[in-house]
Amino acid sequence: MAPARLADLLQYLPKAELHLHLEGSLEPETILELARRPESRTVGTGASAGMSLEEVRARYRFGDFSGFLEAFKWAVGHLRTPADFGLATARLIEQLHRQNVAYAEITVSAGVMLRRRQDPHAFFGGVLEGYRQAKKDFPVEVRWIFDAARQFGVEAAMEVARLAPQYRSEGVVAFGLGGDEEGWPPALFRGVYDYARAQGLRLTAHAGEMAGPESVRDAVELLGAERIGHGIHAVLDPELMEQLARDQITLECCPTSNLATGALAQLRGLAAGEVALSQHPLREFFDRNLWVTISTDDPALFHTNLLREYSLAAEEMGFSPEELVRIAEMSFESAFLPPEEKLPLLETFRKRARELLSE
Ligand SMILES: [Zn+2]
Repeated sequence: MAPARLADLLQYLPKAELHLHLEGSLEPETILELARRPESRTVGTGASAGMSLEEVRARYRFGDFSGFLEAFKWAVGHLRTPADFGLATARLIEQLHRQNVAYAEITVSAGVMLRRRQDPHAFFGGVLEGYRQAKKDFPVEVRWIFDAARQFGVEAAMEVARLAPQYRSEGVVAFGLGGDEEGWPPALFRGVYDYARAQGLRLTAHAGEMAGPESVRDAVELLGAERIGHGIHAVLDPELMEQLARDQITLECCPTSNLATGALAQLRGLAAGEVALSQHPLREFFDRNLWVTISTDDPALFHTNLLREYSLAAEEMGFSPEELVRIAEMSFESAFLPPEEKLPLLETFRKRARELLSE
């Protein structure tokens, strides 16, 4: 397929984005806008108010995982009021719509919100209000995942698991776990996941991003995770890959993220500058019939978007248009939606995909 035709296919193909952090979607321009809001100066330090766009962009350049965590924390620091969350959400919905993302599950760092003593009712309320406004012009179907940060501890994670079901009618469908994987292995959070499951929440967990295959196995076997954020280290364990394929555990793959944080370099035992996207395990996962999606993780921090990730999969990993369509289909199939809500989205997707492939 000619490059221009592939670009059209990817643009017009309805897509689902399942691994996307609201706080990692703040474009430098939005950061500046937030920093310059008058109310920011009274609530926060306002330290970024005098920054130039170039200075903000420089904060988004980092060489490793700890640098990434610092940048994420810095970006989150600009979300100081419910209206700030509303603006961030509205900007994200617009970007998703422009890429023809029909369905998104957006992760909200509820753990960080609680730690910053931001009343979830008001602050998540700001997110919902931003979505409600943006949806009028940019219709994207959204569900929310409340995510806890491992390094804040088990009790803090439990608080997030207790909070999430209270917003079920607002579209919060799942509980997730992120943050420092090596210091805080899955086993610690078993009780939290048991509780979340009993509340009817769907379950995902970041695992096998910076830690080894055992972290993925434990997330599945001990926590009952139905999807895994990243999971790239599973490629080191053929038996685990077989298990993931058999149990249809979806790996939410975010190639550029893994390149930018150093996770891919760590997996391949190389220095950060020596590794390339062609070494991302997405290709091997797909060839071994694992369920995979293509996602952006923190698109602004990683200078990417979903269209770009699909293009890179074609250019750097040798995926054919038909294979990319299959991955897009799996992203709808892996959505945390009940069958009666998933089916119409899938039918629309399949019809459009057939048209685009036969054009
Ligand atoms: Zn993530």
